[in-house]
Amino acid sequence: MDQGIVVASANGHIGLPAAVDVLRQSGSALDAVIAGTRLVEANPDDHTVGYSGLPNMLGDVELDASVMEGAGLKAGAVGALQGYQDAVDLARKVMETLPHVLIAGDGSRQLAEELGFEQRDILTPEAEAIWKKRLGDPRDRDASYMSRVSELVAANASDADFASIGEIPHGTVNFIARDRDGNIASAVSTSGWAWKYPGRLGDSPIIGAGNYADNRWGAAACTGRGEMAQRCLTAHSVVTFMRFGMSLEAALEQAMNDLAHLDDPYKSEMNIVALDKDGNPGAASTAVGKTYVVMREDMDEPEERQRMHISVPGT
Ligand code: ASP
Repeated sequence: MDQGIVVASANGHIGLPAAVDVLRQSGSALDAVIAGTRLVEANPDDHTVGYSGLPNMLGDVELDASVMEGAGLKAGAVGALQGYQDAVDLARKVMETLPHVLIAGDGSRQLAEELGFEQRDILTPEAEAIWKKRLGDPRDRDASYMSRVSELVAANASDADFASIGEIPHGTVNFIARDRDGNIASAVSTSGWAWKYPGRLGDSPIIGAGNYADNRWGAAACTGRGEMAQRCLTAHSVVTFMRFGMSLEAALEQAMNDLAHLDDPYKSEMNIVALDKDGNPGAASTAVGKTYVVMREDMDEPEERQRMHISVPGT
């Protein structure tokens, strides 16, 4: 019997021990990635995922999340979910209880209500203060406010206000696990890009773009500018490249190189974490110095590792 392993984006550190504990008790990869993601969604210090995520341009926090099981390519996702913190649990419910893969907007909120999920105001005073400082009071909004959306999306990649407080206004958490039975599962959760247009879905809830898992070849998940991963189906590409014989590292490099072809004035950072079918982890970033975290059952704590840097023109 194999030893279980979990790999996550660096902000998944807080949830990694809980995820590995699930594997130690012979739990499934799916239960492991959900246990880890849940703790990041509940973390008030993380303004990029779940509770206390930064809001959209109207001041509403909208969550995107997805899960995928590599055994039967089962998947579930929610997008633009308002009023609930537990986006990843709801994504699992979509997978397990509905004949659908992705439920977005009002439908996701209705589903959460029907299933008895706990309603919560997930916009914290701190996140609201950041939003107001950046965009002004919503009551003062005029036509020019709306026309600034594109400008703000571009500015977010290198927002000086955020750099000064050590924050970036976007981010996501990725978890991928392989359990003792060799099953792989992946989970992704995010509040998306701060100040995004209402209803905008990123790559995180789009199976193939920000999340993909297939026991036969491995799994990958993304953080960074979702529109890029949506257009290149980046997570699926990594898995496909492994399917056609590339090593994990070569697959990551090829998927990143594909982004160079994008005509995108808002091109910015892309990050991928991945696991091959045998449970070997890897990660890449278009930015220098980025890390990810790994923990196997025999480790006492998560190990932070450097991501492979792949330079992509324009990012
Ligand atoms: N990928 C996320 C999105 O586009 C944001 C991020 O990871 O920075 O919504």
